[in-house]
Amino acid sequence: MPIRILSPEVVVRIAAGEVIERPASVVKELLENAIDAGASEIAIEIAQGGRRLVRVSDNGCGIPANEVELAFARHATSKLRSAEDLYRIQTLGFRGEALASIAAVSRVTLSTRAVGEEAGTLIRLEGGRILHREGQGRPPGTTVAVENLFFNTPARLKFLRSDTTEAGQVARLVSSYALIYAEKRLSLESNGRLVLRTLGTGSLYDVLVTLYGLDIAEQLIEIPPFTEEGITVSGQISAPSLHRANRRDILLFVNRRWIQDTSLSYAIGEAYRTLLPQGRHPLVVLSLTLPPEDVDVNIHPTKQEVRFRRQREVFTVVQRAVRTALMRQYPVPVAQIPGPSAASRLRAGQDWRALFAQAPLPVNPEEVGHRVPLEAPLRAEEPQPSGRLPMLRVVGQIAQTYIVAEGPGGMYLIDQHAAHERIRYEELRAQRAGQGVASQELLDPVAIELAPQQAVLLEANLQALLAYGFEIIPFGGNTFLVKRVPAGLAPGDVSTALGEMLEAALEGKEGFSWEDQALITLSCHTAVRAGKALSPEEMRDLVRQLERTALPHTCPHGRPTLVHFSQAQLERQFDRR
Ligand code: ADP
Ligand code: MG
Repeated sequence: MPIRILSPEVVVRIAAGEVIERPASVVKELLENAIDAGASEIAIEIAQGGRRLVRVSDNGCGIPANEVELAFARHATSKLRSAEDLYRIQTLGFRGEALASIAAVSRVTLSTRAVGEEAGTLIRLEGGRILHREGQGRPPGTTVAVENLFFNTPARLKFLRSDTTEAGQVARLVSSYALIYAEKRLSLESNGRLVLRTLGTGSLYDVLVTLYGLDIAEQLIEIPPFTEEGITVSGQISAPSLHRANRRDILLFVNRRWIQDTSLSYAIGEAYRTLLPQGRHPLVVLSLTLPPEDVDVNIHPTKQEVRFRRQREVFTVVQRAVRTALMRQYPVPVAQIPGPSAASRLRAGQDWRALFAQAPLPVNPEEVGHRVPLEAPLRAEEPQPSGRLPMLRVVGQIAQTYIVAEGPGGMYLIDQHAAHERIRYEELRAQRAGQGVASQELLDPVAIELAPQQAVLLEANLQALLAYGFEIIPFGGNTFLVKRVPAGLAPGDVSTALGEMLEAALEGKEGFSWEDQALITLSCHTAVRAGKALSPEEMRDLVRQLERTALPHTCPHGRPTLVHFSQAQLERQFDRR
């Protein structure tokens, strides 16, 4: 085939592929344009995850009537004049490709009125072609509506996830901008429901309260502006009592641009070393300000990655700012806690498993009656009920955490929580497969307040949650009222358990699956916790139930439920052989 220069239509489609990946990318570009236009109020609406509609309205400077068509031309921008400007970019946009790209793959209606002009303009495009233009009366500002995204690029459409997942991505994006543009009033509606609204007070803390709720906001530590080497760092970070399963809540902004930087997130995690349980991550909102010429934002079409001219200095300053704030609150010098032992000590003390529900053990006296009496020693030929675990005779409890038992082959130490988790997990699974998880009504319904992303997910899954024993009703905004919970779940743990389930679901690769993770979370929260004194009956009952499980040797997280010391091992320890 001879070499040919591609037609402008093909070129714009290719470019669109780079900039516009999903509805959240459309929201990002339109939101950035509204911010660049100096808007103080920005309203975002989406329908069906943004696939059917994304609408962004602002009260910014507007587009002059004679430039409206030009705004949709490729490489048309009012933000950059010369190549030198590239090295001192102060605006979020500068490539002049967003509107052209969006218009190429959707149906766009833009209505705008420039400040200082008498009337506004409305223009309609489809697949990049202008269909209609008219004068329009409207207040200054701009509204862009994007409908039927990817209608002409079916391959792209196929790659989109469920509406709920896409809406979640949009909520996460808008939340991030809301944090860093705290002086602007931002709102997001999804399918007509208000997902988030900020007040525009200018305070990051206020936005954090709006997004995460007061409980979480109270566990945050402020980083007052910290300047070194011409780099200023400020923000809010979580106290060690608050942590997450992933780095999703480490939000970084460079010159008020939300960026992704894995190595910088990692550096921040390092500043927390030994303060967090292993595998857990802090919640961080950090804003870096540095001279524009020290940051290259032009390395990716989506402008989500940046390159620092002085990367090492940036990392050092960020780590120092985080560590200084942590040390002020936690006088133990962070750096001097010795590595592994302190880490494992912290893990034991602060692991989320420490949040176990105080559920009474089901004691069934009839069953206990059948069992081997406490005093009777076990004989090796004792029948083994499931054939998987030997019959065990309970001897006592250690540290209110481990049950000591004697079995045919020697001594067994049972982790009471892990063992009960296994029991609960198999029970819950059976219930789930049948009538649904047994539930109980709360005398006082518990109100929970969620982050916007979580609220979207929860709202979409209220029905599915009934089978897991939760009856939850929307209570306006991101607040929900929990009326029924799985039997044995303490009211005080409802919010944590739901939070973990949502977190796990958000992490799920394919759309949204509660299934196993939900059961694991529930088994953990309804199992007897470590540190609880158990009566001999309760211990015997627990051991009997463990014997009847299908996989008695591990808890659903994969930790061992019991360790075995053989007769021979004991004899060796005492030099008997
Ligand atoms: P860029 O933001 O990189 O300049 P865009 O394609 O996003 O490119 O926008 C093209 C131009 O249209 C902008 O430079 C700006 O002049 C104008 N524009 C777009 N959206 C808005 C808006 N919401 N308010 C005012 N002007 C806008
Ligand atoms: Mg732009």
